[in-house]
Amino acid sequence: MGVAAPPDLSLDVRGLLSEGTHLIGGEWVAARSGETFEVLNPANQEVLLRVPRGGPEDVDAAVRAAAEAFPRWRDTSPSRRAELLFRWADLCHRYRREIDLLERMEVGRPSWGPFSPIPATLRFFAGMADKITGTTLPTSAPNVLGMTIREPFGVCGSIIPWNVPGPLMISDVAPAIAAGNTIVVKPAEDAPLTALFLARIAVEAGIPAGVVNVVTGFGAEAGAALPLHPLVRHMSFTGSPETGTQVMEACARNHIPLHLELGGKSPQIVLRDADLEKAVPAVVRSITLNTGQVCAAGSRVVVDRELRGPLVAALAEAFGKVRVGPWYEDVEMGPLISAKQEQRVLGYLDLGRREGAEVVTGGHKLRGERFDRGFFVEPTIFDGVEPEMRIAQEEIFGPVLAVISFADEEEALEIANGTRYGLVASVWTRDVSRAVRLARGIQAGQVTVNTTGSRGVIGAPFGGYKHSGFGRTMSADSILEYTQVKTVVISGD
Ligand code: ADP
Repeated sequence: MGVAAPPDLSLDVRGLLSEGTHLIGGEWVAARSGETFEVLNPANQEVLLRVPRGGPEDVDAAVRAAAEAFPRWRDTSPSRRAELLFRWADLCHRYRREIDLLERMEVGRPSWGPFSPIPATLRFFAGMADKITGTTLPTSAPNVLGMTIREPFGVCGSIIPWNVPGPLMISDVAPAIAAGNTIVVKPAEDAPLTALFLARIAVEAGIPAGVVNVVTGFGAEAGAALPLHPLVRHMSFTGSPETGTQVMEACARNHIPLHLELGGKSPQIVLRDADLEKAVPAVVRSITLNTGQVCAAGSRVVVDRELRGPLVAALAEAFGKVRVGPWYEDVEMGPLISAKQEQRVLGYLDLGRREGAEVVTGGHKLRGERFDRGFFVEPTIFDGVEPEMRIAQEEIFGPVLAVISFADEEEALEIANGTRYGLVASVWTRDVSRAVRLARGIQAGQVTVNTTGSRGVIGAPFGGYKHSGFGRTMSADSILEYTQVKTVVISGD
């Protein structure tokens, strides 16, 4: 098969975004240094667009613009803020094809179908904008009124990763601005285009200048400057644990709260009575979706030892059928995002073998005309994995599944909880009592039974236990994370 793009791929990135500019205070401007860098298509390394190489000066300009826009935005009536967010949602729906294609191009992922979570997330938080309330407090003095009001922080900072840039940007920006904050977003250097385009749509929706700003650039330059800026009053970071530590240290120096979303090593516990017809495709999808580059990837299968043989056989067969190729072909799994990410995943494939795990299927870089210009690896299953092996403990961020077996429910729980992470988990069983016990016993921010993901549940909080981070996105409560509580006492004497 050749590498030609299918005929419907008519997206011209330059028709959506102007080269070399990012959004500061409502203006599309170049980096102060005048420097740019290339954003590449991970399937073939062609240049999609050059974007500004923003640094501390650009971050400073964006934060100042956001600070200037803040008082007016804070004082804009919540209903008006809601209206603007609804309009942004409508436009994101209208441009859903462009948003999706842009994200696919820069991340290298195949189509996820017509559904985009972005308009729904924007509408969810638009609907919350005029429902942020405080409380009235009991008093021991009859002539005194006590109450709390919830106010925005001011300028928020958001640093997002490259794996799912559109939804991750929106899950920070929507609650922040719905609550009356303004925001500066620093997208990842590998995939900043979706964020720039979403900001363009925000401007088109009429969201005032300076409310949403996007500064592109490298982590050590633009990223590092954001949480340290004295006018930034709240941070949100999604990314790797190492960088999360650095951002948290910066927030500590700046005395600002942080919403932290790091990785996971999410277990999928398969009990003896599981319905394998349902479990197998879900397990495969949860580790091959976005080439395993999802913080919630189900990277460990924790299976009853009696069921291990049949499950591994069924998984191997299903892995063998996963169609891998450039994102613009009819495939289920695309390339990894970058050479760096490929090195990381290939390193873990080596490590797994050295640790004594058995490669059941996959295990190599893909070669051939369709693959040589991209970063393609085979979806891989390691069997015979021991819980303490590094491939069972560390986040690989690739399509690599570790199969670990257990003797009883207690051991299953011990293995599931036996990593530093605690983001999501799934349990596969027909036995309700076991499902309830495990759902309670698993240390993770989200536990699903006989499904992966929150499957259409609206407003399901998402976020981690333990080293996976803290704070929750997507829920009614998450907008409250972008507010601070003020107590007001009024004496009538
Ligand atoms: P990866 O190594 O997979 O790129 P990172 O956690 O380093 O993951 O990247 C996530 C986001 O953090 C990106 O937007 C990146 O630019 C940013 N980043 C990287 N280093 C820093 C840093 N020292 N301070 C702030 N942000 C950073």
